[in-house]
Amino acid sequence: MRLRGKTVLITAAGQGIGRASAIACAAEGARVIATDRDAALLEGLEGIETRVLDVTDAAAIQAIAAETGPLDGLFNCAGIVHDGTVLDVTDADWAFALDLNVTGMMRMTRAFLPGMLDRAAETGSASILNMASMASSIKGFANRTAYGTTKAAVIGLTKAVAADFVKQGIRCNAICPGTVDTPSLRGRIASAVDPVQAEKNFIARQPMGRLATVDDITPMIVYLLSDESRFVSGQALLVDGGVTI
Ligand code: NAD
Repeated sequence: MRLRGKTVLITAAGQGIGRASAIACAAEGARVIATDRDAALLEGLEGIETRVLDVTDAAAIQAIAAETGPLDGLFNCAGIVHDGTVLDVTDADWAFALDLNVTGMMRMTRAFLPGMLDRAAETGSASILNMASMASSIKGFANRTAYGTTKAAVIGLTKAVAADFVKQGIRCNAICPGTVDTPSLRGRIASAVDPVQAEKNFIARQPMGRLATVDDITPMIVYLLSDESRFVSGQALLVDGGVTI
């Protein structure tokens, strides 16, 4: 029970990595508050509190922060992929990607950090975890201009928050997965001109020869939210099947 006694809130917990993280954190004894924009996707999360939350809605974020009380762990998982080069991206796509993927995490952090500082003063620590990607400042990928830009910014936000609050017991890290088999990845494969080839291409990116499952990613998430990572802050940790070897 590596998260016993901890309250952890997760965004985008309706499916994919966020949902698997909610289940993994609850299995480790945390009180989990699973949030997502889509209420239907939150169904079936047994023993887990659920709330509808769109991370682009600043007022809703403030309301939920007032309602849930102080957190020990915040996992900012929400993010979307914009597919295309710099020649394809519209101003609207660009603004939306930044608003959801970066500003959403800043809004969540700004709303929950005061409570987390109180909690850290009591217990010695609280942990913020931001979902970045190997496609970021770490490595460039074709057709990921807006996405890679936002995930690079997530790493910058992570380091800035870590630097500002390290002396008050707040740790802030980013996780950078490789290609993970989730509903949105399946959607990207299905919408490709040649879905069979698209799947082969996604698999070929990993020298380990396969896609990650969500269960390849959740152990790092539990670790970073737990006290086992108590001497780790400001880091971007890769779980990528060897892509960046
Ligand atoms: P997904 O994309 O399949 O699901 C995303 C979830 O986010 C959905 O439940 C959706 O309802 C929710 N969501 C969308 N917009 C939202 C908003 N404005 N507010 C709150 N929730 C919202 O899940 P995934 O593929 O596991 O991706 C989750 C995160 O992991 C994203 O930040 C993504 O960039 C990142 N990531 C994914 C991969 C991958 O290969 N799947 C790799 C690296 C990083």
